[in-house]
Amino acid sequence: MKHYDLIIVGGGVLGTFHAMHALELGLRVAVLERSKTPRGSSVQNFGQVVPSGMDAQWQQYGRKSLAIYKGIQAQFDISARQNGSVYIASNAEEMTLLEELAAINQANDYPSELLSAQQTLDRYEGLRADYCLGGLFFPEEITLEPRIALARIQQYLVEQRGLDLFTQTLAIGIESNSAGCQVHTSDQRRFEADQVLVCSGYEFQTLYPEIYAQSDLQAVKLQMILLDQQPTQVIPGSILTGLSIRRYESFRECPSYAAIKAREDADSLDRKWGIHILFKQTADGSIILGDSHEYADAAVSEELRIELKEEINQYMIESGKRIFDLQNWNVRETWAGVYAQCKTSDIFRHTIDGRIHLLTGIGGKGMTGSAGFASENIQNYL
Ligand SMILES: Cc1cc2nc3c(=O)[nH]c(=O)nc-3n(C[C@H](O)[C@H](O)[C@H](O)COP(=O)(O)OP(=O)(O)OC[C@H]3O[C@@H](n4cnc5c(N)ncnc54)[C@H](O)[C@@H]3O)c2cc1C
Repeated sequence: MKHYDLIIVGGGVLGTFHAMHALELGLRVAVLERSKTPRGSSVQNFGQVVPSGMDAQWQQYGRKSLAIYKGIQAQFDISARQNGSVYIASNAEEMTLLEELAAINQANDYPSELLSAQQTLDRYEGLRADYCLGGLFFPEEITLEPRIALARIQQYLVEQRGLDLFTQTLAIGIESNSAGCQVHTSDQRRFEADQVLVCSGYEFQTLYPEIYAQSDLQAVKLQMILLDQQPTQVIPGSILTGLSIRRYESFRECPSYAAIKAREDADSLDRKWGIHILFKQTADGSIILGDSHEYADAAVSEELRIELKEEINQYMIESGKRIFDLQNWNVRETWAGVYAQCKTSDIFRHTIDGRIHLLTGIGGKGMTGSAGFASENIQNYL
């Protein structure tokens, strides 16, 4: 039996980039993934890589991720496109936050460009003049095709970096002793390694349920909509609008943020369901529109009910129509994405016997932060 330096349970974006960095350090690495193709949070999302929305620490990880994604894309098509991100202000308060964030980013040496209302309207076809007061554009940022990118990154790691990827492989138990670890799978296979890293996303039941139940981890459910292809309309990059300016971590560092938040209507539907409006056009011209947020503690995460709330989807579509005149508003698909996050910290880490490491709860920033974060965090598992 092959003995690995590191086995990673869970082939989402967090596990996959830890595998990549471990391979770069010369380690023998296997990823065990229960699904045939990726099915977790890492394919349910927008594919927006937006360090501009992160707090100072995660912006640094996100900027490192940008370099990593671009570096892979230069050798192997992982669907990354450098088409920038824009935040669009709908009123004077949001415009103030954009100006303040532009100044913060200038001090951080992170390129951004303040756009007048007309400049923003000129760049984004269909953007409504009665919504837009101006924009803040981040030219370095990229988008990914969420249903494609992760499988391509894994293919690249298998074909060019020597990753052993075992799909349809459900880990059901892990043992450790002074010689190393054994991972047991549901089909009675056994894998051996010095260290095991469990990046199982929002799956809190299969391995170590008692540890997750005692943690402050929670599952977060987001409603998402896919609109049909736009016949000719092209809306490049990640589009983040007024409610995102009021929600994303980076804006919390703006001097006016607290006062602006204090004036918000606490009873609005967007506050009730944690809605902010994001657009991301996919490579085939359809548009991902979202999102909302509902929460349940890890111990009771199945209480996040399976149904989608029509009230939320209708509200997102009506809000979207106040922002863009799209050529085609036909809804092709709706779905609920789920991710794991911590209530009080930016990621969950727990080590058992010095050899088994649990890592999840990266929250809504995983596609942006994982690659850069993993490049540093891998040092903890050597
Ligand atoms: C709707 C939505 C929109 C989002 N939009 C964005 C965005 O635009 N930009 C951004 O930066 N982030 C976004 N995020 C957040 C991002 O998707 C997550 O942070 C990230 O995907 C989490 O990655 P992960 O590897 O921890 O989890 P996952 O992707 O869920 O991976 C965990 C993997 O572990 C596997 N697994 C679990 N248990 C076992 C087991 N016992 N054995 C084997 N395999 C197992 C699962 O099958 C799964 O593949 C969004 C998330 C959602 C849900």
